[in-house]
Amino acid sequence: MLNGKRSHSPVPYRNGNGVKMNGAGDVNSLNQQFNPLLQARRRLPIFPAKRKFLEEATKHDTVILLAQTGTGKTTQIPQFIHEARLDREGVIAVTQPRRVAAVSLAKRVADETQTELGTIVGYRVRFEEMCGYTTKILFQTDGMLLREAMLDPLLKKYSWVILDEAHERTVNTDILFGVVKSAQKYRKGQNDLPPLRVVVMSATVDADKFSNYWNCPVLYIEGRQFPVHIRHISSTTDDWQRAFLSTIFLIHENAPEKEDILAFMTGQEEIENTARQCRLIAKEFTNSPKLMVCTLYAAQTSDMQQSSLRPTQPGFRKLVLATNIAETSLTIPGIKHVIDSCRVKAKVHQARAGLDMLKVVRVSQAQALQRTGRAGRESEGNCYRMLTREEFDSLPEATVPEILRSNLSSVVLTMLNIGIKEVIKFEFMDAPNADSINTALRQLTLLEAVDLSQGGVQLTSLGKKMAAFPLDPRFTNLLLAAEQLGCTEEMLTIVALLTAENVFQLPSTKDKLEEANQVHKKFQAAEGDLLTLLNVWRAFRNSAGTPGWCRAQFLIPRHLNFALEVRKQLIGVCHTAGVAIQSSRDVEVLRKAIAKGLFMNVAQLTLEGHYVALDSGQHVHIHPSSVMFKRKPEIVTYTEMVATSKTYIRGLTIVSEEWLNEAKPDYFRTHRITR
Ligand code: ADP
Ligand code: MG
Repeated sequence: MLNGKRSHSPVPYRNGNGVKMNGAGDVNSLNQQFNPLLQARRRLPIFPAKRKFLEEATKHDTVILLAQTGTGKTTQIPQFIHEARLDREGVIAVTQPRRVAAVSLAKRVADETQTELGTIVGYRVRFEEMCGYTTKILFQTDGMLLREAMLDPLLKKYSWVILDEAHERTVNTDILFGVVKSAQKYRKGQNDLPPLRVVVMSATVDADKFSNYWNCPVLYIEGRQFPVHIRHISSTTDDWQRAFLSTIFLIHENAPEKEDILAFMTGQEEIENTARQCRLIAKEFTNSPKLMVCTLYAAQTSDMQQSSLRPTQPGFRKLVLATNIAETSLTIPGIKHVIDSCRVKAKVHQARAGLDMLKVVRVSQAQALQRTGRAGRESEGNCYRMLTREEFDSLPEATVPEILRSNLSSVVLTMLNIGIKEVIKFEFMDAPNADSINTALRQLTLLEAVDLSQGGVQLTSLGKKMAAFPLDPRFTNLLLAAEQLGCTEEMLTIVALLTAENVFQLPSTKDKLEEANQVHKKFQAAEGDLLTLLNVWRAFRNSAGTPGWCRAQFLIPRHLNFALEVRKQLIGVCHTAGVAIQSSRDVEVLRKAIAKGLFMNVAQLTLEGHYVALDSGQHVHIHPSSVMFKRKPEIVTYTEMVATSKTYIRGLTIVSEEWLNEAKPDYFRTHRITR
């Protein structure tokens, strides 16, 4: 773990041997002189701005740095600070909204500094870390820094906090803004604490709004940007995928070899399916370079992403199918053509159901412009948008911050646990409306995490326990219910699998899909989807989970292994939070725990044949992917509500009225199960 002491970096700088320093605090170490990456660093647009940046960043407590993607913000700014030894009084935190970006950037900076990853440069993301007491530049997700702030609200370990990708405005970023601001303010008044310096970085933000909030100057650095020719489709279509594919192959057929393509899509499954299609179609293009199809999305490990980031070999054309992760966080060389679906999967909150859902929505103009820019980094480029000009013009200008479209219970729980009592009065850049905060408080009260009866908002001891888990409070509640009934072991498995992506492989061809469905049948549990997952897990563990076995079962080993990792970490959290881990082979006990844990997610069959979610009274349907799809159980719990053309519930378990009444008599007096 990291030390909290203020100390010099224990690894000596090697600039004491007569090597001249040039410029303000520019430590031109021997280390760097022999580094082949140094030339590349020097060519970055940010390099000439080094002195100016350091001047401004030491003159003010906070600076905002705006520069296009690829300028060198993320990789260079922490090094500038470290080389100038401005980090003597504490570690430099660099926050990222995505774990993969945190990991791959830490690797890159470790390479550039020619140090072993985990020594001077390290990273920390949920369920994984690579850092030590010598670490001075610590890349981490904003969620990790926020968790740390729960234990140390003044962030004493750090002398600098670099809030990167500020325009993403994730919930975590937004709370971090408030927390960092308040730590900074407090430390300013303390003689025994060094000041906390803050750098807010982004490719694109509303500069005025940020500058007002932080009350600080904005530095602009010119990036490289060549003109990009933009084309829109001529008529509106819902079937944008077709236009998308034909654009890819129109470019592939006509463009010269060195011109790579970056195509923005919405999610993993869609990307993998399209990649398969493209590989097939590409075989027909014998007169074009070979098409190397790469995929890029957040659920991949950073190793898997490397093929997208490497320069293309002669004789090939690279096609990168990416989610919005390629908008700003990762730099891909060689891109000349951008194809933009103009769609993105975004979290949408449905206040009535109290659930967050991922939905495909159209991007904002700001996002589309970022995407367009990716085509003009090295020379003139082209961008093809899968919207008409009129549709594009009607897009919202900027993306709505996530905090304004989320279920806030997790957020509010985190905030309460950090000690932010006045959630409604917190200094948000964009405050969620009071209704949503009240919905969250209601949920947390029902979960007995919060006590409102004493006047004011009190976090209960149960609430504190819940806050230790990096999970949606409802999932934590599942674990706690399981603890009471003695089946934590099994519930940990279920929760771990729920946090992972779908473990069932669903092939795109009809024959294969039928075969997969057939193979999956043997895992099906009559009691529902959660117990089906448990069956998958047991088979996976019994078979040692080899890739060959997974392939034969049409299961995705990566997702199972991810769940395995999560499970290990959750066991760790259980140990520290004092949650007993016991096992039960009794399916009924497990279902009782599910009923107790998910009492807010109960749906009952109506006489008309659809379901009603008892908490909100909403009409819902069983999702076709559920093992319960063709059956009509009387009462079920669900883990997810998905709105497409209809509202679906997923992750079902059959439960009984009696268990529910027993577990939460008060709740079910007002949310009646009707007969
Ligand atoms: P910014 O944060 O301004 O978008 P970065 O600091 O992330 O810029 O990247 C600057 C440059 O460093 C990129 O243009 C790219 O050339 C190089 N680079 C960054 N990360 C990697 C990596 N993982 N592998 C290879 N090159 C990289
Ligand atoms: Mg960056």
